[in-house]
Parts: sequence; structure tokens; C-alpha cells
Amino acid sequence: MREHTTFGIGGPAAGFHFPDSRSELGKLLKYAKAEELPVYYVGSGSNLLVSDEGFDGIVISIAKTFTDLDIRADGSVFCEAGVMTGKFVRDISRAGFTGVETLSGVPGTVGGALVMNAGAFGHEISEHLRQVTVLRLNGEERVYKKAELNFAYRESSFQEGEFIISAEFKFPAGDITEIRNRQEMASLKRRKHQPLKYRSAGSIFKNPPSFAAGYLIEQTGLKGARSGDAMISGRHANFIVNLGKATAENVMELIKRARKRVSEQFDIRLELEIELLGFSRKMLTKYALSTV
Ligand SMILES: Cc1cc2nc3c(=O)[nH]c(=O)nc-3n(C[C@H](O)[C@H](O)[C@H](O)COP(=O)(O)OP(=O)(O)OC[C@H]3O[C@@H](n4cnc5c(N)ncnc54)[C@H](O)[C@@H]3O)c2cc1C
Repeated sequence: MREHTTFGIGGPAAGFHFPDSRSELGKLLKYAKAEELPVYYVGSGSNLLVSDEGFDGIVISIAKTFTDLDIRADGSVFCEAGVMTGKFVRDISRAGFTGVETLSGVPGTVGGALVMNAGAFGHEISEHLRQVTVLRLNGEERVYKKAELNFAYRESSFQEGEFIISAEFKFPAGDITEIRNRQEMASLKRRKHQPLKYRSAGSIFKNPPSFAAGYLIEQTGLKGARSGDAMISGRHANFIVNLGKATAENVMELIKRARKRVSEQFDIRLELEIELLGFSRKMLTKYALSTV
């Protein structure tokens, strides 16, 4: 899985597939259900830490397929879930529609962004969403209107086993110069404050109410702290970077240290923003993550 995550970390999966049609995806899901094989979906793995043992199941990604993006003159957009968020943002902004330009530079796919309700600089991908089509493990397709879904800070209400295949949005028209300025501001801030030279999974923790997780970790003096080749970034303390050969255990060790110090110093419990895959209960307990 290290080949399929931006962290560059993770042991093997039993199988990894890029289905190139709905029927192939449906067949894969049915096969997994019939064989009782665990299934996990990834986009680009940019918000994911996979254990060193890997995952004993099938991983399915549509990051290289399901890439249709149709932007109509009235601002309505049909987007398959494998479209990269960067392209989604760029094409919609260039067409003169506003609402996603501050997500410029968020890695990953639109499918992953919807599950995570990805956002940046005050805007989230769910804001101008109309509906989402998912495929269930039994091969059944379901369309959710936005009102049937719940989105919160880095959270959505999609059910386990539901694979997002496409989404529809409606964006308002905006001033092209202002859109471009907001896009540039977002890129500039990202380059200035994030350690983009190294592999990472973005922010490790969600920001607790009224605080930035990075600020709290920085105050505990943990910037630059290392475990093997994993390091709490000196540029942005909510990022853990892989300096080369970091293992998932290295990252978990730093996560545990940061949570402990922040809890002791501020009495605030940091919650993970990244998703974990392939960790045994024993391992989660070892790193005090059993309740996350
Ligand atoms: C340098 C860097 C900067 C980042 N900056 C930001 C930021 O500013 N804002 C922000 O919100 N995030 C940020 N992230 C985190 C990450 O990019 C986002 O969460 C992104 O939207 C994840 O997309 P993905 O396709 O890589 O999803 P993955 O990491 O592959 O998956 C994330 C979750 O979605 C599920 N999933 C993925 N695709 C599907 C699908 N089609 N159907 C059902 N479930 C699916 C997975 O099972 C997993 O639970 C950053 C990451 C990095 C590395």
C-alpha cells in the first residue's frame, strides 16, 4: 500500500483493483461479498495511514478511471468520483464558477474529498453539492439528494460499503479575477505553511473547537520530534512527514506522543483527521487509539 498512499507507508493488501466500468466495479463488489472478503475504497490515499502489516482484503480505487467531468453553461456539474480534486477545482474556476477555488492544492479524488468533506480556507466540497450516486456491496445503485446526507467538519454520513461513483453540483457564476486571486492566495499559503517537499497525509488531527491542532502541538515543543524516519514537521506541527523510510509504527508513536502532550498541557483530546487501515485492536490500544 505504500505505492498507493501519499505517505508512502503501508504493507501489502491481498488485492488492489482499478475497475474501469460500473459493471466491473459491481462484479468486484459482488465477488467480495460472496467470498466474505473485506473491501476498502481508496482515492489517492492522501488521507490514509496503512499499517505495516497491510490489509487482508481487497482495495478498490477509481483514481485512474471514472474520470468524466462535465461543466455546463448554467454552472451545473456532473463529476465522476475518480476525477482529481485539483482538476475539478481548476476546470470549474476557469469556467468562471465560484465556490471551490480555495480547495486549490488539496490532493486526492472528488470521491475521497466527498467522504472527508474536504475543505480549505472556509469552504468545503459539500457546499454546492446537489446529489451523489453510490454503489452498494450488493451491486445496488442509490442516489442521495444532498438533503439526505449529513456533512460536518471533515465528516460525512455515507454508510460503510457504499462506493461513491459520481456526484452533481451547481455552482454560482463569479468574477474570474476574484476567483483567480482566491486560488492564488490558497496556493501561496499552502506553499508557505505546509511541508510539501516531503510525503505526508496532510493534517493528522482535526482542529478542536477554537484551536488549531498545529498550534497546540507546537506549544508542547514537539516540532521536529522524530520516531525513525517519521517527523513532526518543523514547518507545520499538525503534519507528520516521512523523511524516507518511516513505518506506520513510527507515525503512530508520534501521534501518541502529540496527543499525550496536548492532553497534559491543555486538557484537550485531539481526534484523528486521517483514516487508519489494517491496524489490529491490539495495535490501536498500544497507541491509545482504541476509541478514535
Ligand atoms: C499535502 C496534503 C495537503 C492536504 N490538505 C488538505 C486540505 O487543505 N483540506 C482537506 O480537507 N484535506 C487535505 N488533505 C487530506 C486529503 O487530501 C483529503 O482528505 C482528500 O480529499 C482525500 O482524497 P483521496 O482521494 O486521497 O481519499 P483517500 O485518502 O484515498 O480516502 C479517504 C477516505 O475516503 C474513502 N473513499 C475514497 N474514495 C472513495 C469512494 N469513491 N467511495 C467511497 N469511499 C471513498 C476512503 O475509504 C477513506 O475513508 C491534504 C493531504 C495532503 C497529503
